[in-house]
Amino acid sequence: MASDKPHMNLAIIGHVDHGKSTLVGRLLYETGNVPEHVIEEYKKEAEEKGKGTFQFAWVMDSLAEERERGVTIDIAHKKFDTDKYYFTIVDCPGHRDFVKNMITGASQADAAVLVVDGSEGIMAQTKEHVFLAKTLGINELIVAVNKMDNVDWNEDDYNKIEAEVDKLLKMVGFKPGEVQYVPISALEGGNIAEESENTPWYDGPTLLEELDDLSRPESPVDLPLRVPIQDVYSISGIGTVPVGRVETGEIRPSDKVTFNPSQKSGEVKSVEMHHEEVPKAGPGDNIGFNVRGIGKDEIRRGDVCGHSDNPPTIVDEFKAQIVVLQHPSAITAGYTPVFHAHTSQVACTITNIDKKMDPKSGEVKEENPDFIKAGDSAVVTVKPQRPMVLEKVKEIPQLGRFAIRDMGQTIAAGMCIDLTP
Ligand code: GDP
Repeated sequence: MASDKPHMNLAIIGHVDHGKSTLVGRLLYETGNVPEHVIEEYKKEAEEKGKGTFQFAWVMDSLAEERERGVTIDIAHKKFDTDKYYFTIVDCPGHRDFVKNMITGASQADAAVLVVDGSEGIMAQTKEHVFLAKTLGINELIVAVNKMDNVDWNEDDYNKIEAEVDKLLKMVGFKPGEVQYVPISALEGGNIAEESENTPWYDGPTLLEELDDLSRPESPVDLPLRVPIQDVYSISGIGTVPVGRVETGEIRPSDKVTFNPSQKSGEVKSVEMHHEEVPKAGPGDNIGFNVRGIGKDEIRRGDVCGHSDNPPTIVDEFKAQIVVLQHPSAITAGYTPVFHAHTSQVACTITNIDKKMDPKSGEVKEENPDFIKAGDSAVVTVKPQRPMVLEKVKEIPQLGRFAIRDMGQTIAAGMCIDLTP
């Protein structure tokens, strides 16, 4: 598959049984990405057992073995491309670890397709996923009103669902230009790659055209340089060599750089990747780089390297949006768990719980609540016990997210939404 196209991470969200797996299978099939052996196997089985239509959920089941082996392999296998983009389908909400992965950036989605069964409309998980998607920073959504083959669908029914979903999306904070609607049949393929005969009243784009029409997320290359440091070496004859993965921006020899929160500055002498010197490195590159003017003991793991004219932000106190995943009791002001952000681990005190939101709708349920517990979403004020680097998630998403751990568990995930004075 051509990978020179811009890459997009896509989440397929929606209530159970509304057709998410079927749609994923269908998208892979229509774009020629279901392995031939899978189709052959299915046809053989269908002949032997007399099964009916090609079941796309089955395609996903046949990849289930890989799914069992873990999230990364699961993700690695669900890729397809359209004319413009190369898509990776990221794990869906409801699947284990989805929230954690999205917030920590392991599978941050750039856009989402919300699947709504046209005969059922909005259900509990529809609301939950929509709110989660918005909370986690997904700003573009395609609503696929599914199963249009199922009933005698007419334009009025479709418009009713569209109005209902539109109301929910507005309440959660999506703006009109951020949402597109398309009536589909994931099972039969209507309005996926080609127009459906079942919906003569719909002359808008197909789902694949809508996917092509998504706006491209800002490339991490265009963001300020940020290299979270994993390790620092001192190599005789060379000097100090910090090692880390470039998250955003580009780094070149002779760049003036600053490491925060250590507040040490120096000049890049050389950049190495796979033991070879390179003229520059960018997002995703694991590098070691030699800096002049900084001693090995002056910087450490958890520091972030950036250009001196736009150094990494040291936070003293910040506002965060968090989702409590699991906690045996309640979280109250004063609670001090460990925040894991990029390569740093810093004990931080939740000094105030500003507001608690309904995890299903995003509506503010309570201002300054006394406590929050598992399942709650909240805006909190956080004070790190020592200086740490964190960026506003709107500005540099890669450096704005964190997981909150305590008692050997990830108890919450969140992102920095504001830097308070
Ligand atoms: P998920 O739980 O959201 O992943 O839903 P599935 O993809 O497993 O689908 C649930 C059921 O709905 C399965 O029996 C599918 O065959 C059926 N289904 C999915 N898409 C369609 C569709 O477009 N039309 C019809 N009639 N059934 C569908």
